[in-house]
Amino acid sequence: MENHYLLDIIYLIASMTFVIGLKMLSHPATARRGNLIAAAGMLAAIVGTIALHEGEVKPVIYILITIAILIGTIIGWRTAKRVAMTKMPELVSLFNGMGGACAALISLLEFHNGGNTTRIVIIMLGLIIGSISFAGSIIAFMKLNGTLKKAIRLPKYNAVNTIMMFVVFAAGGYLAFSGSGSNMMLYGVFALALLYGVMFVIPIGGADMPVVISLLNSFTGLAAAMGGFLYGNQVMLTGGILVGSAGTFLTIVMCRAMNRPLFNVIFGAFGEGAVKAGSSAVHGTIKDISISDAAVLMNYSKKVIIVPGYGLAVAQAQHVIHELEQILEKRGVDVKYAIHPVAGRMPGHMNVLLAESNVDYSKLKEMEEVNPEFANTDVVLVVGANDVVNPAAHNDPSSPIYGMPILDVENARHIIINKRSMNAGYAGIDNELFYNPKTSMLFGDAKDALTKLVTELKTME
Ligand code: NDP
Repeated sequence: MENHYLLDIIYLIASMTFVIGLKMLSHPATARRGNLIAAAGMLAAIVGTIALHEGEVKPVIYILITIAILIGTIIGWRTAKRVAMTKMPELVSLFNGMGGACAALISLLEFHNGGNTTRIVIIMLGLIIGSISFAGSIIAFMKLNGTLKKAIRLPKYNAVNTIMMFVVFAAGGYLAFSGSGSNMMLYGVFALALLYGVMFVIPIGGADMPVVISLLNSFTGLAAAMGGFLYGNQVMLTGGILVGSAGTFLTIVMCRAMNRPLFNVIFGAFGEGAVKAGSSAVHGTIKDISISDAAVLMNYSKKVIIVPGYGLAVAQAQHVIHELEQILEKRGVDVKYAIHPVAGRMPGHMNVLLAESNVDYSKLKEMEEVNPEFANTDVVLVVGANDVVNPAAHNDPSSPIYGMPILDVENARHIIINKRSMNAGYAGIDNELFYNPKTSMLFGDAKDALTKLVTELKTME
């Protein structure tokens, strides 16, 4: 069989593994296998492309490709192996940025090989979208790991960003359609797209980062798909389109979760509310609860809903929370988990975390499904969650999270909140829920507090 037929078959199989893998990623029970299947398909596509490539290729090119793959594999493997679960969102952001950077570099190289207008349009799109995705992902990485703490807003940033976006695309269009672009102009577009990527993400504050992260994800997919068009490479095209469309769907889901119109996201008019962050300080008295009182309260409840948040991931308390759930269930308590779509620091963070400790997936309830249930719940146990249960989203128009749907834990009979201090969450705002007369604070590290709760419950048998 001729090489290119064999390669087409490999590409077809690889594309199928991406689709199957993606489908399997939608359920925790199959996600790990789905990831491996798609990775195997990607490996086959890479090896096939190198081994079955037709045409003259100098041996030195193979050596360079092998060295690049080895370096990439070692860095990627070691980083992913070593990274703590809590650092996973940053890592995902960084990897996403690398995809964008690859697409931009491909475009930079291919521009010099010339071609017709359609080809240059594709090159320009790959360059601009890839650069925005790369620069934006690096800023997202810095925001997630805390290097960049605040939303930085230059005067009139919305107008400036929108103008900058049009200038980048207009300059790219000029290069593509005039057929007379210079190197200087090419690198000018590259630099401007990078700058726009930075400017696009730095003003995003409050709790709007999940939308941006998923949007950048879809940009990387689009940029990779441009590479697929450029080389007429079906597997690159399929992979890019799958990432791009999955990212777009995720963006829509996140927009809905944050109650932000997609138009505002794209044209930079969002994150606006955060300018007034902290304008309404919350006051009142808080009451705390001992481990034994919390254990008694839950032990004699009919229904308990656990609300996990970022702190659960920080404390790595997913196993002990599952143990707590099992003990309560054995005592006849109905236990569920309420999952907010942006809880944690990456989409699906809580689902992944709880799947790691084998929590039954049917116990995880999404926000819309669980919200009506709080009113007939005896105890809500909030573990390391803050913004996703902050009533300011309903009551305070000056709050950066105003309008974001939250878990309506206030409606439950008793609220127990476990966290280490009165510190704010990601959005950096006070939470009046802590001062609610129905609320009791269970201060301490989540793993430590839950372990003590479990021990206490065991003594009550
Ligand atoms: P938050 O960031 O609002 O709050 C987490 C809370 O956990 C903190 O208040 C902290 O309080 C507590 N905490 C930290 N460590 C521990 C620990 N070891 N034990 C117990 N508690 C701990 O988390 P939420 O999940 O409620 O909300 C997620 C936020 O992150 C939202 O604002 C969301 O928009 C944003 N975000 C989400 C992304 C996503 O894709 N999901 C991406 C980027 C941002 P204390 O220090 O007092 O313990």
